[in-house]
Amino acid sequence: MIEVKSIVKSYKTGSFEFKALKGINLKVENGEFTSIMGPSGSGKSTFMNILGCLDNEYEGKYILNGNDISNLSDNELAYIRNKELGFVFQAFNLLPRMTVLENVELPMVYAGLPFKERRKRSLEALERVGLKERVKHKSNEISGGQRQRVAIARAIVNNPSVIMADEPTGNLDTKSSMEIMKIFQRLNEEGTTVVMVTHEPEIAKYTKRIVRFRDGEILTDELVKGRIKL
Ligand code: ADP
Repeated sequence: MIEVKSIVKSYKTGSFEFKALKGINLKVENGEFTSIMGPSGSGKSTFMNILGCLDNEYEGKYILNGNDISNLSDNELAYIRNKELGFVFQAFNLLPRMTVLENVELPMVYAGLPFKERRKRSLEALERVGLKERVKHKSNEISGGQRQRVAIARAIVNNPSVIMADEPTGNLDTKSSMEIMKIFQRLNEEGTTVVMVTHEPEIAKYTKRIVRFRDGEILTDELVKGRIKL
């Protein structure tokens, strides 16, 4: 479903050109749960920006669900992001003065869905992450773990085929991290592909595959042995 071929990404600063990705080849099939790991500066964010359709200035091919999306315009990519992808970030990225429900409804406001449909789908998504009782709270009135669950509900509300998560447990204590990984595992079992950046080996053990970056290249790509299932 995700296939990238010979992806090269350079950053130009004046006359200096730096190759942040040096020819990445990777296939992620439907239903996988993959961790992207690697030291700081190894190219993980650069790669995730491309996978997440936030960057179209690179060399190589990106095929998503059978369509070559390598040369699409910003607008075309925005459409794909909204339809196919859900994003979860380390810092949750919720709007603090809005309620839990309003935060989850936001992607559907952008997609132009009618109010009733938005409410229905938001409540379903919040139920899937176990937060149905907190819907009227403002998002700054709930805990970090609960905020991340709201962010996951927001990410799944348009039924994306892939969830892209960037250090989703980076701001959470161990107990909340476990809860979040349990939710990702359940969504994955229900058919959603998950690609997650993490620098925590303990967290990567909950996924099925670990792809390690170093200096803009894939160093190793392995199935997780002794995977922990919550
Ligand atoms: P990671 O997410 O693994 O920490 P990044 O993808 O952020 O790595 O960065 C990879 C390399 O590209 C680093 O050496 C970084 O300094 C460089 N880089 C990232 N973004 C830019 C940019 N906008 N301009 C110039 N260099 C950049």
